[in-house]
Amino acid sequence: MAELTGKVALVTGAARGIGYAIAAKLAENGADVVLFDLCPEEAGAAAAEQISTEYHVKACFRRCDVSDYDAVQETVKAVVKELGGVDILVNNAGITRDKVLLAMSEQDWDLVLDINLKSMFNTIKACYRNFMKKKSGKIINISSVSGLMGNAAQANYSASKGGVVALTKTVARELATRGVNVNAVAPGAIETPMTAGMDQDALNALIATVPMGHMGKPEDIAECVAFLASDRAKYITGEVIRVDGGIAM
Ligand code: NAP
Repeated sequence: MAELTGKVALVTGAARGIGYAIAAKLAENGADVVLFDLCPEEAGAAAAEQISTEYHVKACFRRCDVSDYDAVQETVKAVVKELGGVDILVNNAGITRDKVLLAMSEQDWDLVLDINLKSMFNTIKACYRNFMKKKSGKIINISSVSGLMGNAAQANYSASKGGVVALTKTVARELATRGVNVNAVAPGAIETPMTAGMDQDALNALIATVPMGHMGKPEDIAECVAFLASDRAKYITGEVIRVDGGIAM
């Protein structure tokens, strides 16, 4: 039996990129998966279908804007009712709106903070009672090396990802005696649609800062998340694991 058989994992921003790789890896390890994303219904359903066909687990898609408090409470409630609960919550959805602070609009500040950080308040709050009742569970939040080091032209993004670290440690302390492990993963430069949209010069400059000399793959992040989601990581909580080729060491 695979190590996550019988577990239900909810992954946000799971239709593509790192989120999809995480959902696929948890499914490969036996978990049933619920994919939350904002993408069109057909694309989300196709992603879930691909995972269930490849790994022979239950996989379903729920279109949900994770920055919308009410929508998240409602959608999570329906998932818990339908699947009997959530064992693993992976908060991965995130966006960038990069500009130097002087040129950054209030809208871009709010949007990035809402999608990258408030979303995690929304999902964790929606799952909190479920985890208390189960007296077990794993919450894994995707931060970024930008949240650890800061990054020019990413005041909104870096602040949101630093906030993810503080939120992770706080919730880890709140749930430590309840059998729930709460950790964060801080990726460096990873090949996804997010980085594919970057200006080539900026991307080259970023790669030049990676001691290992190349970008990582979504699967590198997924491996770390799968470890944290397993019982192999049962004595780890409040930790931030960098998966960054050495950028932030
Ligand atoms: P990505 O390719 O842009 O994928 C992000 C996914 O999140 C997309 O499917 C997107 O949906 C979804 N999403 C965006 N806003 C949402 C919302 N409000 N509600 C629900 N879903 C939403 O990004 P990625 O590179 O895989 O990044 C995943 C996570 O890793 C992010 O938190 C990011 O900050 C973090 N990270 C990435 C890197 C990197 O180098 N790639 C480095 C450090 C940290 P749509 O398709 O509808 O837009």
